[in-house]
Amino acid sequence: MKTMSDILIIGAGITGCCVARELAAYHASVLVLEKESDLAEGATKANSGIVHAGYDAVPGSLKAYYNVRGASMYSGLCASLGLPYKQCGALVIGMNDQDRETIEKLRLRGEKNGVSGLRILEHDELLSLEPELNPAVICALYVPSSAIISPYETAFAIADHAALNGVSFRFNENVEAVHVQPDGLFRVLTSSDEYLCRVLVNCAGSYGAQIHNQLSDTKLDMIHRRGQYYLLDRMDHPPFTHTIFQCPSSMGKGVLVSPTVHGNTLLGPTAEDIVDPMDTATTSEGLSEVLRKAALTWPNISVRSNITNFSGVRAHLATDDFIVGPCDSCPGYYEAIGIESPGLSSAPAIAQDLAGMIADQLNLSAKSDMVPCSVLPVPFRDMNTEEREKAVAADPAWGNIICRCETVTEAEIRAAIRRPVGARTIDGVKRRTRAGMGRCQGGFCMPRVADIIAEETGVSLPDVKKGSGDSFILAGSVESFLKGDTAYDRSEY
Ligand SMILES: Cc1cc2nc3c(=O)[nH]c(=O)nc-3n(C[C@H](O)[C@H](O)[C@H](O)COP(=O)(O)OP(=O)(O)OC[C@H]3O[C@@H](n4cnc5c(N)ncnc54)[C@H](O)[C@@H]3O)c2cc1C
Repeated sequence: MKTMSDILIIGAGITGCCVARELAAYHASVLVLEKESDLAEGATKANSGIVHAGYDAVPGSLKAYYNVRGASMYSGLCASLGLPYKQCGALVIGMNDQDRETIEKLRLRGEKNGVSGLRILEHDELLSLEPELNPAVICALYVPSSAIISPYETAFAIADHAALNGVSFRFNENVEAVHVQPDGLFRVLTSSDEYLCRVLVNCAGSYGAQIHNQLSDTKLDMIHRRGQYYLLDRMDHPPFTHTIFQCPSSMGKGVLVSPTVHGNTLLGPTAEDIVDPMDTATTSEGLSEVLRKAALTWPNISVRSNITNFSGVRAHLATDDFIVGPCDSCPGYYEAIGIESPGLSSAPAIAQDLAGMIADQLNLSAKSDMVPCSVLPVPFRDMNTEEREKAVAADPAWGNIICRCETVTEAEIRAAIRRPVGARTIDGVKRRTRAGMGRCQGGFCMPRVADIIAEETGVSLPDVKKGSGDSFILAGSVESFLKGDTAYDRSEY
């Protein structure tokens, strides 16, 4: 059946979610199609989570423009959504005279881009600020406005707010073909359905060029650049309080060591050009490179604290800049392509501009009655004793700890599933609540989370998935295995 909407957005990463939320402020029907089973399954779930200040991008580029503007929006955005945002500041460290030259250039570049507070710090001051730093450090660019956020939690909250204001999200809808009909409407074909819309917005991340090339006269090539990471467990005294960068190269910002908003420490990423944008494997070579380079920043690196490794893929264009706006050769088609780093930092500003352009084209009127965003409740692990007692008295599910590593309760898991764009998979629950994010990586809580998902959503237990695709975690019932059945028929459970 053909579903008609005014505006159809392809991709529910941070860019698509921000665009959807901006458009929710207007009287228009907005639909987001996402090929995976949840929000933020592309680059948005696997990056460094830094709100870059904007000292790195070339002055005059869209990257520089959107980075500085987007970064300035994050503190207010996170406060309004109840999301973690920590302005921890960053240091770009230098080990020799050549690095010092690079750092001085970055300072000038940052000032041109409008970044304030940039200063060069010398060895002694650096080591008093960050005693775990390599003592061979000679200087660093101090970037006080650099901040950290949780990228996927930000996308979830933004999507929830969009959905509360009428935006529809459909998952497992892979857009395979897009055409312009003689009547000017876009016809969008997915793996399972067909959609019509007046305006089409391409926020497809790594697949942005594939959609673009079906509609535009100019063809684009996308380079898929993978970055691998180490994630270290939360520590009482994390080694660094600032994000520590090494000097950037043509392949990116280099390997960083950074605190996360939840108290973990992140090491990475690599920058490797790969063929398949879905290849988010980690490799022994890539991870060794991360350790080798991170040890230049942090000689006493604590690998024993590692709890997991992951990788994300950057959507890099040969022009090394974002493409944002309408496509000249295809009226009604808008795009945000090549949104690699600093794309997370830039997304709120990119979305504001795209939504404004679309509202002008469709002559949309603004709603006078936007539903305010529902601020997320304080997590149980962050409550004081009095707050905990009050929560448990109101609902005993607050007293049932499901994830012991991260102290996540049954009430929080149920709430995550019931959110406007709620979790449907174990990874979806994990990213919304942190159940499974701790040292045991879900070894203890995963079966309990699966039970709750089955109960809340009405799917049978063996049909609960870990994430996208066929990521089932149960092979069948013990009873059927005892009977000698090896192939599980999910429909008969
Ligand atoms: C290793 C790494 C580190 C980074 N670090 C930072 C950082 O610290 N700070 C920063 O500002 N930026 C950083 N970035 C960049 C940032 O992560 C991205 O710019 C941002 O997440 C891009 O968001 P997006 O929504 O444009 O793309 P994505 O998050 O990739 O979302 C695109 C979505 O579109 C969906 N999709 C694709 N094709 C189709 C289709 N045909 N049909 C339906 N759906 C489709 C995908 O499944 C995906 O969910 C980093 C990126 C990487 C990879």
